[in-house]
Amino acid sequence: MSMIIPFQNSYAALPPKFYARLAPDPVSAPTLLAFNKALAADLGIIPDTDAVMAQVFAGNTLPDGAEPLAQAYAGHQFGGFSPQLGDGRAILLGEVIDTHGNRRDIQLKGSGRTPFSRNGDGRAWLGPVLREYVLSEAMHALGIPTTRALAAVATGERIQRERGLPGAILTRVAASHVRVGTFQYFSARQDYTSLRTLYEHARDRHYPDAQTPLEFLQQVIARQVDLVTRWLSIGFIHGVMNTDNTSISGETIDYGPAAYMDTYHPVTVYSSIDRQGRYAYDNQANIIAWNMAQLASALVPLMPDSDEAVRDFTTAIHGMAGQVKSAWRQAFGQKIGLSQATAEDEALITSLLSTMSENQADFTNTFRALATDSAPRDQFTDPAAFDSWEPVWRARIAAETDPYGLMQSVNPARIPRNHRVEQMIQAAEEGDMAPFQRLMASLAHPFTDDATFADLTHPPKPGEEVKQTFCGT
Ligand code: AMP
Ligand code: MG
Repeated sequence: MSMIIPFQNSYAALPPKFYARLAPDPVSAPTLLAFNKALAADLGIIPDTDAVMAQVFAGNTLPDGAEPLAQAYAGHQFGGFSPQLGDGRAILLGEVIDTHGNRRDIQLKGSGRTPFSRNGDGRAWLGPVLREYVLSEAMHALGIPTTRALAAVATGERIQRERGLPGAILTRVAASHVRVGTFQYFSARQDYTSLRTLYEHARDRHYPDAQTPLEFLQQVIARQVDLVTRWLSIGFIHGVMNTDNTSISGETIDYGPAAYMDTYHPVTVYSSIDRQGRYAYDNQANIIAWNMAQLASALVPLMPDSDEAVRDFTTAIHGMAGQVKSAWRQAFGQKIGLSQATAEDEALITSLLSTMSENQADFTNTFRALATDSAPRDQFTDPAAFDSWEPVWRARIAAETDPYGLMQSVNPARIPRNHRVEQMIQAAEEGDMAPFQRLMASLAHPFTDDATFADLTHPPKPGEEVKQTFCGT
């Protein structure tokens, strides 16, 4: 018997300009660290022994039907355009149709050099691989669109970063890996034939009812507004919202230095390379509008009349501010128990948030304490600040049918806290995967209180705080 992945590839049938065909670079001694059984079943994968799966997810053995390739793409990185990025350390093995009828990519990340590697080694180390595994699966459990983690392997090789580190490979599953930067790649080259082919591929795959590039853009915008608003609602900071890390499907992709915030502050930044705070928590809605403007520019050549296209696309981008505002109001309204927050409720939400930031309140625990009515005032350095907000809020939720049920369904009890993720990585480096298993178990049902995981709800103690996260490239 051997592992079966029922591939049905479509990207590999696109013209050669879209990718470079190559096999992953084998590694010396792969071991399976994690395997997502439930996801595998959803994908129609027939598993095998750990030893066989380690070979497959390391790229040493290619399962039947795989057509490995590295995808070409461009992107704006921190606002500057790079006309050629591409998969420098990832290989798309192929696609499967899942049990719901959805096409899903299966990609190895950390699988060796490709023609797009530039100066990189094409590898990843254990830390970012397990970090993405945990953060992406937590995102999924929170009900937010995201790529998934199918497997993690240790390569048995050391890779050189600031110090020697254990190599690892993540197997990632995505609705597709087509990015804003994929459109930019062909548009910047003025290769409009390929641009149209890409458009048709992405449209058929993700927005089959879009009749025109304008409708396509509007639908991508709608999904991205929804996505970023959901990030804000759980205190998530992506960290590198470059256009090559913005998926056309509207999934969260490329976790790199991503983090869930502990203490609430609107300008929180964790990423070590984001020195200007371009991708700070409360700038993410502005950035997604900027990224959608880049997508719009890339799509203009597909329109018969470019003046008209520019006008319509500009209208679509300008509309985003209003869309974000209403999605944000809805999401944060629910966080304080309002099933339909109105414009008048906005002041109630913003005054809570400013009180939280002035009083070092923990983002997750404050909203959870509201939801479970368990001493929310204790979350504030000056509890009296909360006391003046509380009666106004109580009066407002009196009109709601089930405010606590609503709040409990949107305010998680547990998120992957940075210091726990760091501790998990340190243990894994020493060969102890127990903290990883426990973290994963605790994040599978984030909206259910569970006393066995009480320690994982605590904010970091002074010495435990993680102030910076790293891309791991
Ligand atoms: P990221 O920051 O992971 O979104 O990657 C940005 C670009 O750098 C992409 O083109 C990656 O393929 C490339 N890259 C990141 N890390 C490596 C690496 N270790 N080796 C080669 N290319 C890399
Ligand atoms: Mg990337």
